[in-house]
Amino acid sequence: MPMTYDDFKQLGIRLDMSRGKPSAEQLDLSRALLDEAGTMGYLSRDGIDCRNYGHLLGLPEAREFGAELLGAPAAQVVAAGNSSLELMHDVLAFAMLFGVPGGEAWRKRGEIALLCPVPGYDRHFAICEALGIRMINVPMHDDGPDMDFVEAQVAADPSIKGMWCMPLYSNPSGAIYSDAVVRRLAAMPAAAADFRLLWDDAYRFHHLTPQLHTTLNVLDACEAAGHEDRALVFASLSKVTFGGGALAFLASSQRNVAWWQQRVAVRTIGPDKLNQLRHVRYLRDRAGLERLMERHRALLSPKFAAITAAFDAQLGDLPDVTWNQPAGGYFISLYTPPGVAKRTVALAAEAGLVLTPAGAAYPYGRDADDRHLRIAPTFPSLDEVRLAAQGIALSLRRALQVA
Ligand code: PLP
Repeated sequence: MPMTYDDFKQLGIRLDMSRGKPSAEQLDLSRALLDEAGTMGYLSRDGIDCRNYGHLLGLPEAREFGAELLGAPAAQVVAAGNSSLELMHDVLAFAMLFGVPGGEAWRKRGEIALLCPVPGYDRHFAICEALGIRMINVPMHDDGPDMDFVEAQVAADPSIKGMWCMPLYSNPSGAIYSDAVVRRLAAMPAAAADFRLLWDDAYRFHHLTPQLHTTLNVLDACEAAGHEDRALVFASLSKVTFGGGALAFLASSQRNVAWWQQRVAVRTIGPDKLNQLRHVRYLRDRAGLERLMERHRALLSPKFAAITAAFDAQLGDLPDVTWNQPAGGYFISLYTPPGVAKRTVALAAEAGLVLTPAGAAYPYGRDADDRHLRIAPTFPSLDEVRLAAQGIALSLRRALQVA
């Protein structure tokens, strides 16, 4: 007899699958950062005492490492603290308060807006909400945002000051921006002269298949199109080493980096250079990072495969139910028939399985069709993921009232 929703509920499991965090096993891959912290020293390559204040834009070797990873000159890369989200928040806060190069303070204009490809990253939307920035939904395709829609909006509306972009393995759709999409984003005319692309390259190194996908270098594309200040690129090592103790990068034009330096100097005297030094000594170079990411992939790809195998087996017969098989990143998107996502999450919770709230991947938490679920398979163990996949499928079947 196949398991029913009621059987699943009887198991009395307690599992939180709501956030895309690295598992303890993944964090253990970088144990050396803790074990060898004492022997890694505090003097940088150039004799900088990393215990002390200073070097606002980061340790030179950390900036060079970021440059190698992001494909930008080191002078245009900032190595910062542990969170790229923090950098995105501050870029937008500074833009609101003071404006970006080439424009006045965004808040002076009254209402301003950002384009938000959906489904997207809930924390991007939370920043916009906190700063009072209106969000405009943009439909997503497998190769990136709907560019006809984006171009029309950006050309016509000067209150649109920017756009969130997750070019590789987008959270949570898994989309990979095509070269044509990147070129169009770089080149499109904007009614706002100070329009910015907030280029969140969070999953740049996070492949789930042997094919290491890449996207076009947006800084080069913007420069080639005569919009060299348009893109601000963000990335971090949070899901390479430690979610709570890695380092983040910001890469942009010289003008934008000078602007950042001026603004951030008021906020801090310098980042944690000891941690930057340890990371550079531990990872060494891009090849070192890629070797480590292979080990993450070995832990993660079976979890993603377990979800899709369970969905194939248990949801394959249902019309209007689809899910993606991402080639990288941290999430799977599951689409239910309209009006059923919230109910599915509630039923899963009744059975002890905490999922991301339905609608979380949309601005203001509103998925008008109530169809989207973000599944985060990374944190639980493989056995737990298998069980959770079954629980999600059974909750959806129960929500649809099919056996
Ligand atoms: N950007 C995206 C798209 C993410 O999914 C996440 C974490 O899940 C972050 C940024 C957070 O990055 P950080 O740890 O560098 O703040």
